Amino acid sequence: MKRKLSIILALVMIMSMTFGATVQGAMAEYTVKEGDVLWKIAKANGTDWETLAEENALDNPHLIFPGQMLTIPDYEKKVTLLHTNDMHGFFIEGSYDGMGAAKLKTVFDMYDADKTLVLDGGDATQGANLVTLSDGATAIEVMNALGYDAMVTGNHEFDYGQEPLLANVAAADFPVLAANIKKDDDSDFLTPYVIKEVDGVKVAIFGLATPETVYKSHPANSEGLTFEDPATAAAALVPTLEGMADVIVCLAHLGDEGDTTSESVAKAASGIDVIIDGHSHSAYAEGIVVGDTLIASAGEKTANVGVIEVKLTNGVVSGTSAKLFTKDDAEGIEEDATVAALIEKINTANAVIEEEIVSTTEEVLVGERADVRTGETNLGNLIAESILDISDADVALTNGGGIRSSIDVGDITKGEVLTVLPYGNTVVKIELTGADIIAALEVGLTDYPEAKGAFPHIAGMTVEFDSSKEALSRVTSVMIGDVAVDEAATYTLVTNNFLQAGGDGYKMFDGKTVAGEYGAMDEVLIDYINANGTSGGALTERIKDIAVATTGWIIDILTAA
Ligand SMILES: [Zn+2]
Repeated sequence: MKRKLSIILALVMIMSMTFGATVQGAMAEYTVKEGDVLWKIAKANGTDWETLAEENALDNPHLIFPGQMLTIPDYEKKVTLLHTNDMHGFFIEGSYDGMGAAKLKTVFDMYDADKTLVLDGGDATQGANLVTLSDGATAIEVMNALGYDAMVTGNHEFDYGQEPLLANVAAADFPVLAANIKKDDDSDFLTPYVIKEVDGVKVAIFGLATPETVYKSHPANSEGLTFEDPATAAAALVPTLEGMADVIVCLAHLGDEGDTTSESVAKAASGIDVIIDGHSHSAYAEGIVVGDTLIASAGEKTANVGVIEVKLTNGVVSGTSAKLFTKDDAEGIEEDATVAALIEKINTANAVIEEEIVSTTEEVLVGERADVRTGETNLGNLIAESILDISDADVALTNGGGIRSSIDVGDITKGEVLTVLPYGNTVVKIELTGADIIAALEVGLTDYPEAKGAFPHIAGMTVEFDSSKEALSRVTSVMIGDVAVDEAATYTLVTNNFLQAGGDGYKMFDGKTVAGEYGAMDEVLIDYINANGTSGGALTERIKDIAVATTGWIIDILTAA
């Protein structure tokens, strides 16, 4: 026994001398303690006992003794973070949308599940009919099938109300995170963070929700909740997480605009290795580096899968990188059959929901293309009145091109309303000047009497224009109630989020302060008709061409003479 030990000792000395010549700078030394076992030392140092035995030329790896020096080889590990954000329920591949959920699953499966986490930056459960018809429940079904490990709540997750949100959270096989939403008793509304072990690497993931939720979703949806400043919340939490994990990942539904951005969080809370961002629908080809933090974001609507690689050397983060796997990259890949079948099942169930009767009408509600793109119709008026009513704005304006069909007399089904308003657009209130309102009306009226998608359907104001004048100088009068619009004064205008983003030429709306968001257009219209009937759509000559009147007046005089 003694003899054997001394042979090993001699061997160790020879071997350590041999290695001494080639030792790498970062290699660590370890002094064996009483009771140590090689495999435990190996595991604690991110390696395995075979490697350790080979590195130290131990011919019997079970014979180590206190005081013995072991060389711990450098080791590297790589954790992959796959991520999406702002999917808005667009899980079906489409020419204007992304690759769809069935291809997402195939892309996720291309990575080693044991070394990979799948994460989402929020706003997944609201938008496309596929998910809104179930108040987001079907989005969670799809995400469960996709194998998500965690997501942060977006503002749109609140759009159905707190109860449906919490039901969706409960149905998810993964945590829906937010470290900065507190209830009245100061307890957390959602799970603040989770620690995941990936190939022996501990990854802390925490969520930050946008404080804009309190006005970007209906105010009732955030009643009783306080959204703490994300940067402050992160700065308070990160030191705790540093003691618990090797890698710190923040899922931030904050975006790159407004008061609190992901960049401001990275600056305020050092120690975050990766921020996966959502909310602004940004697509960063290689991420953005702020200090030691990599900020990544993968666009919207399953257009890309974000792929982040976190490299660790001897258990410490030594590098991060980000890239996008785009819809083009996914061109030739197969859809995952299980996810494709799930989407098909949801579509079939939705067809039944679309038969549901939501209201009735005693008159045809006119939404024909030729009508809604050239003038006031009862359906256009109703939609404008419904968004004015819910938002309490001064005036309402929505585009004729967004009204896609008529509704016939009798029962109104959910499907009919969705055919009228198929885009999943939401209602948004902005602040702007009287001059902006006039400029917007001018844009909508440039082509009159030719059809134009931008043709404005309005409420809360009456407009006169002269089509015999040049385009962009046709509006002659805008009355809000009994008072002429004041070009210099500030007003609130409610519209749909497509126009709010500058769509259909309404560039003057883009970038204006958002004063409120009120859910989906179709839901707002249904609720309005149920509460008020359809009489609000009655034609009132609220937008009137006076050129005809002028011509008629001249003809009268000529005839009289
Ligand atoms: Zn958002």
